[in-house]
Order: sequence, then C-alpha cells, then structure tokens
Amino acid sequence: MLSKKIQTALAGSSAIRAMFIEGKELAAKVGEENVFDFSLGNPAIPAPESLKQVVTDLLEKEDPLVLHGYMSNSGYEDVRQTIAENLNRRFGTDFTWKNIVMTVGAAGGLNIVFKAILDPGDEVIVFAPFFGEYRNYTANFDATVVPVAPDYTTFQPDMKAFEAAFTEKTKAVLINTPNNPTGVIYSDETMKRIAEILCKKEEEYKREIYLISDEPYRELVYDGEKENFLTKYYRDTIVGYSFSKSLSLPGERIGYIAVPDEAADAKNLLAGIEVANRTLGYVNAPSLIQKAVAGCINETTNLEFYDKNRKDLYEGLTRLGFTCIKPQGAFYLWLKSPVKDEAEFVAAAKKYNLLLVKGSAFGCGGYVRLAYCISNDKINRSLKEFAKLAADYGLSENVAQENTKA
Ligand code: PLP
Repeated sequence: MLSKKIQTALAGSSAIRAMFIEGKELAAKVGEENVFDFSLGNPAIPAPESLKQVVTDLLEKEDPLVLHGYMSNSGYEDVRQTIAENLNRRFGTDFTWKNIVMTVGAAGGLNIVFKAILDPGDEVIVFAPFFGEYRNYTANFDATVVPVAPDYTTFQPDMKAFEAAFTEKTKAVLINTPNNPTGVIYSDETMKRIAEILCKKEEEYKREIYLISDEPYRELVYDGEKENFLTKYYRDTIVGYSFSKSLSLPGERIGYIAVPDEAADAKNLLAGIEVANRTLGYVNAPSLIQKAVAGCINETTNLEFYDKNRKDLYEGLTRLGFTCIKPQGAFYLWLKSPVKDEAEFVAAAKKYNLLLVKGSAFGCGGYVRLAYCISNDKINRSLKEFAKLAADYGLSENVAQENTKA
C-alpha cells in the first residue's frame, strides 16, 4: 500500500512529464520530425565542448580515490571556492567556500533548504505562475505553497496580493527570475518592492522570513538584460542555482546553494542544509560532475541559439494573432489560450502534433507554456501548424495567408 503522500503526488503527477511521454508515443507513430514537442525544458544544444576535455583530464590526472570518494556533505572545498570566487567577481558578493553547498541540481537544492527550515504546516509564498514541482517540494515537508496572483498585463507579481499573502505561518518566499513558465524577468522595481515588503513583514512577525531565489535560468537573458543576483536586495536571501540549463547538464544533477554571511542565522542554516543533504539521502552532489563544472565555470550556453528561437517563435505566433508575453529570459514562451479552458486549446493543438503544457500546471489557468529549447528548424516548421490552429480559432486575417503558404 502506497503512502498517502505519494498517492497524492501520483494523482497530481507532472503534466509536463506526461506530455513528454505522449510526445515520444506520437513520434513513434508519425515520425520524430513531425512532432513539435514544446513540453519539456530539456536543452537542445549540447554541453560546451570544453567539458569533454575537463572530464578527460579529471579522469586521467586526479587521484581516483579523491575523485570518486566520499567528501564533506557540502561538496569539495576547492569546487566551492571556485564558485564563490566566480560569484564575487561577477556580482560583488563576499563569499568563500563556506557559503556554498553543492547540490543535486536545483531540485535537490530546494529540497535540502526546505528540509532545513520548514516545519509541518508552514507556508511558502510563491509567485504564480510557478514551476509546479514547488508544490511537491513543500509537501515533502508537510508544508504548503501560497500562490500570489500576477499582474496579468506584465506577469510581474501583484504587490498588493503579495502583501496580503503573509500569515503567522509564512517561513519563506520562493522566487524564480528569469521565470519558468513566463520568460519574464522581474524588474529592479519589483525586486525593491518585494524586499521592502519582506523587511516590513520581518518587523511585524519579529523573526526572519527567507527569500529563496531559484535561479536555474540566471544567465539566459536577452535584449541586453543583465544577469541579476538577488542577495543585493534583501539580507535574508538564499540562492539556489543549477547547471542544468546554463551548461546543458540536466541529467548530471548538479547545482549549489549560496547563503551569505549576513543572512539571519547563516552558520546554523548552512549546517542544517549540509545535514539535510545527508539525511535526505543525497549524501553529496555527484563527485565527478562537481569537479567538471568547476573546470567550466566561465562557460555559458549558446545564447544566440535560444535567442533566435525566441524571436522566431514570438514574432511568428504574434503575427498569427496569438497573444503572447514577450520572453525576456529563460527559454519559455507564455501564450494566452484563445479559449478560457486552456485544456481544450492544448487538446486542439495536439491534432497538429503541437505539444503544449497547460497553464494550470503552473497555478495559472487560461494560458499555455511553450518550451522553445528545440531546433530552430522545428520552431519554423511548427508555425505552419500553428497557422492552422489559429485559423480554427479565427484569430487574424494573416492566418489565411499563412495557410496558403503552408
Ligand atoms: N526550478 C525551476 C524554475 C526549473 O525550471 C527547474 C527545471 O526545469 C528546476 C528548478 C529543477 O532544475 P534541476 O534540473 O536543476 O533540478
């Protein structure tokens, strides 16, 4: 008999994963090249070429007893120091290896932070739309997410709703910018306002309330937007990072948590996070890939690749009459469903082998998400199918023209 918790998790099993599996089944029927699978945020470009050499050198030159052995539950000290120095150089922070804990991706990182700070019944405020797994990560510790509605014109958080979301049980606020699923970057003004409200609430409740910044898309920014690092806005900020997207390594499961010295109870917090890494069964982040990412710390992914996809998809869909939020970062596009029930729209899209994810999977119905981390050829061929879909919904006069081309 399954536990009650896992029964609940199974019942609400990830819509994104389900769509991904459906995509594989569809590909077997109609051919992979005819399926336009916008479901999963799985990078379409390989890890940087230099990674191969770094890994080869590690295997040839490092002491295998060190390279494959147990270590501190927080990770190798030299790797953590490399990351600390990289952050200090880029963001003017003041980290040493002691502020960094290597994690099993962003998912592992968030889970150990939650394990360290959440008690049953606690609440974590999240900004809708949000990465659906946040619900599971908090439920792991018998805590819950409290979604805050967005401003629907900009998809920046609604500050009034944010202020109203705090209760005695609020332990943390979880933020993700550049955002999955909208591609929106929270503005400097938004961040300052969030920090102000958090400071006010800390005063009111007379205890710390952590801001947890989930940053797997930190470097994926376009149109001259700058990479941001949120510790500059608010003292009690915990940063979670992942190399899954920035170095195209999602299967390797590697990331880190950074806790600045100024954060409330920082030493204990780091100790708690380290213990959580062990007791949750991760023990430590995978050893070889820890060393490998340290060796590639100055690399980033091919931003031009994603940027071209972003422009082609956004311009193509807008021309067809769809209403889209222009993505500023990450590799997702957020599209308003032409009908209220976006599940109906997702089903209609499937007829043209277009696989989209329902907005309700991100706590925000009426919209769908497209992950544009697929080949540019597919993006452009998909537009012909989107033209047919647009025509079904009578979206614009351009549609007829596109259909003729198709
Ligand atoms: N957080 C967000 C916002 C994500 O989009 C993802 C993955 O897509 C994760 C966390 C999990 O990342 P990882 O693969 O590093 O665990």
